[in-house]
Amino acid sequence: MITAVFPGSFDPITLGHTDIINRALPLFDRLIIAIGINVDKKYMFDVEKRIEMIEAVYGNEPKIEVTRYSGLTVDFCHRNQINFILRGLRNPADFEFEKAIAQTNRKLGNIETVFLLTGPETSFISSSIVRDIFHNGGDISKLVPAKIMPIIVNN
Ligand code: ADP
Repeated sequence: MITAVFPGSFDPITLGHTDIINRALPLFDRLIIAIGINVDKKYMFDVEKRIEMIEAVYGNEPKIEVTRYSGLTVDFCHRNQINFILRGLRNPADFEFEKAIAQTNRKLGNIETVFLLTGPETSFISSSIVRDIFHNGGDISKLVPAKIMPIIVNN
């Protein structure tokens, strides 16, 4: 069974994330969406809410599991028989950052990272822009999956 993990903050999940997830689904038998917990980072939505949002979108997709983890992604991969790390690339800054991490993960953990290029309709979307718009009372409905809107507005 070929398993990948899509690690991230998903604070919150956006149409950029879902574009990558939907396009990756045919490539793997199992896709674990894993929220990485970093105690030094401040999040807008707590981890339970972020999981609830992802499950609202993918709860009926049999290939997808949603979970959380702390520590190194490669250790999480080894504990869970995960073969690949999935990441999305939006721009040169993402590439430079991801390159060092992917090479380190291969060196440290012998885990390959698979990159999918952002789609043209979603390349500008980031969770931080969504948070900023939401924080300032703007309309985020064109940037996030419709199924998470009721969860976000009740936060
Ligand atoms: P992290 O804090 O790990 O970057 P994010 O939730 O911001 O967590 O992103 C998780 C993954 O989703 C990353 O690989 C990121 O590049 C990818 N991603 C986020 N937004 C987009 C987008 N609009 N298009 C393609 N990939 C994206």
